[in-house]
Formats: sequence, structure tokens, C-alpha cells
Amino acid sequence: MPRVYNFSAGPAILPLDVLEIAQRELLDWHGSGVSVMEMSHRGKWFDEIAAHAEETLREVLEIPKSHKVLFLQGGATLQFAMVPMNLLRGKSQADYVCTGNWSEKAIAEAKRFCEVNIVASSKDEGYVTIPQEASWRLNSDAAYVHYTPNETIGGLEFHWIPKTGEVPLVADMSSTLLSRPLEVTHYGLIYAGAQKNIGPAGLTVVIIREDLLGFVSSTTPTLLDYKIQAKNDSRYNTPPTFAWYIAGLVFDWIKHQGGLLALAHINQKKANKLYGAIDCSGFYENPIDPACRSWMNVPFRIRDPKLDVTFLQQAEQVGLLELKGHRSVGGMRASIYNAMPEEGVDTLIAFMNDFERRYG
Ligand SMILES: *Cc1c(COP(=O)(O)O)cnc(C)c1O
Repeated sequence: MPRVYNFSAGPAILPLDVLEIAQRELLDWHGSGVSVMEMSHRGKWFDEIAAHAEETLREVLEIPKSHKVLFLQGGATLQFAMVPMNLLRGKSQADYVCTGNWSEKAIAEAKRFCEVNIVASSKDEGYVTIPQEASWRLNSDAAYVHYTPNETIGGLEFHWIPKTGEVPLVADMSSTLLSRPLEVTHYGLIYAGAQKNIGPAGLTVVIIREDLLGFVSSTTPTLLDYKIQAKNDSRYNTPPTFAWYIAGLVFDWIKHQGGLLALAHINQKKANKLYGAIDCSGFYENPIDPACRSWMNVPFRIRDPKLDVTFLQQAEQVGLLELKGHRSVGGMRASIYNAMPEEGVDTLIAFMNDFERRYG
């Protein structure tokens, strides 16, 4: 079976180069005689792997010294809880922007810990747009402002950074981190589950401004304290070593692609092509406000939804996999993360055009 084009939203496609390096190094990492999976997480080999991954990530994302990088577990979902547990700092409320399914999940979890102000929401519009920043009702008493720069299910993305003054900005960047350059200094905290655009499932990357560390209550579990994790180089307990190693290879790969600016260029081109194909057909549609369309996750519908099953079956037969939309919205979704080559998008568009000719 040859490699297919995998459009899964996550766990998602990884660069072929990365998989091949991992394959070559699987049994014997750099002459150590053991696999990365078999190494001590406190030994000198893994020290090197861990440090290299962080260094490369810092380099490609230009992370300033003011921010710590953590390699954690529990996915973005655990961050929904860890953020309020760590960042309330004696305050009782936090501001949340609600732009879709993942915002809703973050809000529901935060409500277990604090008063949640929904300062802006596009729920009434069906999450097809982002509320104008001028209409946001931010609170100066809020401990932080949380938003979801890319809604993976809805396919809605911020192409700008909200201004929150002195109040730290917190972002769930699970499906957009590393898709383009980012001004990390604007953020108090950024988190991302790795399985979208970073590496394998099981790893969560957190980038946190150092002055926000150290405010948990005495009942917070040790492992959920960012400060403890930072002090122990994310190795207070056994971390997901293999996922961390693969993420490091992905960071190397990004560097070899020419860095995030080069990737941003390609990502925008891939997205423009696909949205262009959808918009100029009378057969497919994407409901999202063109100013807020995601570069990473492109949902689309066939005007006649009875054709969905046939579309998905035939796509799979030609090696275009995981195009089914999220169960909450139906239709189709093509996730076109960094590792999806432009030819993958071209092949999808050619198939869509052909399908339209046959069924349109
Ligand atoms: C996938 C995803 C999540 C959930 O991630 P887990 O790692 O499964 O917890 C949360 N937020 C966003 C934006 C996502 O794309």
C-alpha cells in the first residue's frame, strides 16, 4: 500500500522525511544501541533530544527568553483546566471569547474553577464569523483572556491577534501553532496538543510567560503546576519521550523547509487553492466568512448531502483519506496542516472537480 493523502484533523499527517528518519533511528538512536522508546528520560541521550527539540522550537518560533517552553501530557483538554488552576492568581473571573466547539469546551471546563465572562460570541451566527474586536466586553478584573485562534471543527481562524492590554492573553493553538510566524510576546500563555501540526498524540506544548508561574493553590496536583514542570524541565515525572523526540524531528523539518515564513506562504497558497475551487463551483460550499477562513481546516459541503457517502467512498478509493466532517457538523473537512504537500491539495481539487462533473 503506497502512502495516501491523509486529511485527518488529528492525529494527523506527519512529514514523510520525519517518519523516515524515525524509521532509520528506531532500533539504534545515534549509535546508542537502543531505541528512543527504551531510553531513560533522565539519561544523557534523552537530555540531548529534549534540549535539541526545545532549542529548535525556540528558534523557528522565535520564542523570547521571557517565555518558558513545557512539554506536557493530557492534551489541550487538560489545559482547559490547567489554565484557570494556574492563572487565576487570586482573581475570581476570566474572560473567554466563544467562536466554536473548542471555545465551548474550554469555557465549560473553566466554569469549574471561576466565573467565566463570555466577552464575545458568534454562536448566534452559527460560528461562521468572529465578533468584531470593538464589540468585545473585556473586564479589567479578569485574570486572563482566553480565545481559540483556530477552530478545528468549524474551520474558523483569527488572522490577527486580539489586544487585551495588561490582561494576559491565552490561546488554544492546537491546530494552528507553527502554521506561520507568530509574535509570541503578545501572549501570556499558548498551548497546543501535538497531534495536529506538531507531532504524535500524547504530547502537549505549552509556552508560558515566566511571571505567570507559581500561583497555584495548595490543593493543585503537583503535576498540574506549570512552575513545577518548568523547574523540572518538563520531567517531574516520565514525559512522553517518543512523542517529544518526533516533535523535535518535526521542528528540524520546519527549519529545513525554510522556517515558518516559508511554510506560511505554502499554507496560504494551499488554502487559497482549495477555497477557490469550492467557491467557483456551484456544487460545493463553505459557509465561513472569507475573512476568517482557516488555513488549516477546510470544511465543505455538497449542496446535496445525499452524495456525501459516495464522495467519501470514492475519495478513499483514490487515496484521499479522512475527509469526513466532524460528527457535530457533518459534510466534509480537509485538514491541510504543514505536512500536507501541495500535490495533496491539487489531487483533492482534481478529484472534487471530477466528482462534480459526474454527479453535478
Ligand atoms: C484537537 C483540539 C483540542 C483537543 O485536543 P486533545 O489533545 O484531544 O485534548 C482542543 N482544542 C483544539 C483547538 C483542538 O484542535
